[in-house]
Amino acid sequence: MSLRGSGTKLLIAIAVGFLLGLLVGFALLYAPSATRADAASWFKAIGDVFVRLIRIIIPPLIFFTIAAAVASVADLRRLGMILLWMFVLYIGTSALAGFWGILAGSIFQPGVGIGLTPPAGYQPPKPPSAIDILLSFFQTDFNALLAVGGSMTMIIFAIILGIAVVLLGDEGRKLYSFLRLGSDTMITMVRIIMYYAPVAIFGYAAWLIATYGPQMLGAYGKFLLAQYSFTFMHFFVIYSIIVAAGGLNPLKYFKYQSTPFLIAFTTRSSAVTLPYNMEAARRMGVPEEVFQLTLPVGATVNMDGTALYQALSALFIAQLFGIPLTPAHIGLAVVASVIGSVATAAIPGGGTIMLAFVLGVLGLPLEGVGIMMVIDPIADALRTAVNASGDNACTVLITKLVGLRLRSES
Ligand code: ASP
Repeated sequence: MSLRGSGTKLLIAIAVGFLLGLLVGFALLYAPSATRADAASWFKAIGDVFVRLIRIIIPPLIFFTIAAAVASVADLRRLGMILLWMFVLYIGTSALAGFWGILAGSIFQPGVGIGLTPPAGYQPPKPPSAIDILLSFFQTDFNALLAVGGSMTMIIFAIILGIAVVLLGDEGRKLYSFLRLGSDTMITMVRIIMYYAPVAIFGYAAWLIATYGPQMLGAYGKFLLAQYSFTFMHFFVIYSIIVAAGGLNPLKYFKYQSTPFLIAFTTRSSAVTLPYNMEAARRMGVPEEVFQLTLPVGATVNMDGTALYQALSALFIAQLFGIPLTPAHIGLAVVASVIGSVATAAIPGGGTIMLAFVLGVLGLPLEGVGIMMVIDPIADALRTAVNASGDNACTVLITKLVGLRLRSES
């Protein structure tokens, strides 16, 4: 059985689950209130099963995907310059995108006034100090790495392990094969869990409407407006500036990038878009030695659309539950969304799975993941398209920064 389909069937199934959930939720609004509350808690449980499955898979997913990506780098010294600029540009553009997410959430305020109640026993988060944040990246026990909130330490552990594998040279190849296989296996596990997604979305949609009524639909509409407008702005304005700085006419960039953009938009996976992104880079005149490294790494770690989405989602969830965020939290949200986007797997819905990490870091209710699942197919389409496009924009500039030139068009 192959799990590597285009995702179209899953997309349709999710849409059907969502619509059925809405219908059932609306129908429940006319039921007696005791029946409605009872049914709503069952529907929520159906969705919660999905979130719990995801929580379990996050630590091994982060470990294997990142360790394998780092260990795949062949020769650290020769590639040092490209890696350095890649790091600066990938992190820089994602941080900017995370900032746009915060700005979009503050301007559109999509979750304000909905008034969801935080789960029982929920304590509003205290703003962490800079020292708290620094130390939270480094857990004290190996056990702590396995918790969703220990993800940053897991990422650091996985990076160091990946470098160690590279330094071991030929000896390390065996471990690399294991990590690569582990990474593919974890992604396949996620695909298996995704089969349950349409049912979970049905459950969450029915629960949300039955419990909170149609005003939730308005909140989702505002969220998507905020996300789409700022993500398109990042794509057209920021990438134009980046490719122009790299010596490429932005119009040419948009012309060649249109195919991978649409493929990413419809498949919602940066990983499956990679071959088309490489073809576009070739047409833009980027030398192979640059894009063969930057694009596969970028597909895994550089996700501007996801960073914007995760920062905006964090703000949205805080607004929905009426939880005030301090400036320290806002700064942390940008940092967490950059890290979360780096750790996001290049698969449909990966960014919403990793949203649990961002919410966990900020101390926001993890029910937020289920709430965002409802509109994930729509939110994922554009963020994936921009994730893939950002890799190519940065690749054009990296080419110039490392002293290479774009070849004339072929
Ligand atoms: N689907 C996205 C991608 O593959 C990741 C995400 O869900 O944010 O780039």
